[in-house]
Amino acid sequence: QATVQSAVPQPLEGTAAAEIAATVTRLRGAFAAGRTKPIGWRRAQLRQLQRMLVDERPALEKALLADLGKSPVEAHTTEIGFVANEIEHTLRHLSSWLRPRRVPVPLSLAPARARTVREPLGTVLIISPWNYPVNLSLAPLVGALAAGNAAVLKPSELAPATAAVLAELLPRHLDPEAVAVVEGGVPESTALLEQHFDHIFYTGNAQVARVVMAAAVKHLTPLTLELGGKSPAVVEPGVDLAATARRLAWGKFTNAGQTCVAPDYVLAIGDTADTLQRELAAAVTEMFGEDPAASGDYGRIVNERHFDRLTALLDSGTVVTGGGHSREDLYIAPTVLGDVSADSAVMAEEVFGPILPVVRVPDLDAAIAFVNERDKPLALYAFTGSEHTKRRLLTETSSGGVGFGLPVAHLAVPGLPFGGVGESGMGAYHSVASIDTFSHTKSVLDKPLRPDTMRLAYAPVTGFKEKM
Ligand code: NAD
Repeated sequence: QATVQSAVPQPLEGTAAAEIAATVTRLRGAFAAGRTKPIGWRRAQLRQLQRMLVDERPALEKALLADLGKSPVEAHTTEIGFVANEIEHTLRHLSSWLRPRRVPVPLSLAPARARTVREPLGTVLIISPWNYPVNLSLAPLVGALAAGNAAVLKPSELAPATAAVLAELLPRHLDPEAVAVVEGGVPESTALLEQHFDHIFYTGNAQVARVVMAAAVKHLTPLTLELGGKSPAVVEPGVDLAATARRLAWGKFTNAGQTCVAPDYVLAIGDTADTLQRELAAAVTEMFGEDPAASGDYGRIVNERHFDRLTALLDSGTVVTGGGHSREDLYIAPTVLGDVSADSAVMAEEVFGPILPVVRVPDLDAAIAFVNERDKPLALYAFTGSEHTKRRLLTETSSGGVGFGLPVAHLAVPGLPFGGVGESGMGAYHSVASIDTFSHTKSVLDKPLRPDTMRLAYAPVTGFKEKM
């Protein structure tokens, strides 16, 4: 997987660990007192968060620029505006999502009524990564609050400016009795994971996910794991390769490729590879100019460790475009690699950076086999004019989501749940899926004592006729 922090957690100093324990106890107390349950409280929190995104937009943009060289436009479309839309959509539908659902009662139990009601889980922990540090912290928080929970957020230490801004802003804009931010890295996460939570929502790599899952066992805490993986993009002959290349370049090189659903590699079927590679090079120039380092629209690699990991992958194929890099500036040019073989280094792990390998496959059967020989990806993309191909890919491969004709953007459809399968994660969120994730659905049967129809079921059942 892309990144793992220290495998050996460092012990946390006494006061800090005690402070974390005290914070969780305080939040649990607030939840137990019923503070977060009224729908009015939930709506108020969401509106406050909405206001925060407007009022504090400059501070958030500044932090994202510092952490990832993210342009203000990209910061808005992929992070701040994204969360604002999620809040808007949630506020619009919350009442209907929370409404009890009636369920028919079988004749044998009539007269009676059955329904499901949603109840919040309690105090939840959200651990988020560095690549979309605003979006991936606040979008889960929207769901947690909308469902009526108290929440602790642990932003990533690898996006320190954003973590600091969130730690400063959230307690000021939201109810500090029910929402807390714990800053720090592995020791703080470890201390948090020792606490009792009612749900853990983790976004990051699959190796740390195993640590989180093992910790959840102690309190039998349910969890959502939003992970990554190698998301393939299948390209069939006969499609508009120039348009395909532009869409792939957009999906891949946004945020310098550090996107969990970025197309990780291309499976170019038949004779598509040569033209596609040429068109990819042209698309990169069209988007970022002759020198992408000078483009205000192109981001940077998060740190030296990831920079070194990525530059070591550059000789996995023939450089079609890009390849340039500067450690000082944490810059790696948008790079397309051709003639990549399935067993090269770049194909061994999630790229999670601006390197797009193109692998040639003879036909759709080979593409499907290629995907199925590997872990289930977070997304699968395909560029094809054939409905038959779409149907085959849908039924013969497994992935968290699918995008035909466009990568990444399925995330921006508010009604679509977002989550992985297998190694790319478990559980989902966004829209009503967030309410499902952060609530318990309680089944209720309500039967009047009279008439006492249950007498038919009581022993002695052999006296059935006399009871009538
Ligand atoms: P990261 O290094 O920021 O780690 C994520 C979080 O885990 C951080 O808050 C970190 O402090 C915490 N953490 C690290 N080690 C820990 C440990 N030993 N115990 C407890 N907590 C620990 O981010 P990352 O893992 O590099 O993120 C990149 C990965 O995340 C990629 O695989 C990417 O595909 C995936 N990702 C998935 C999604 C999604 O929504 N499915 C979104 C973004 C990223």
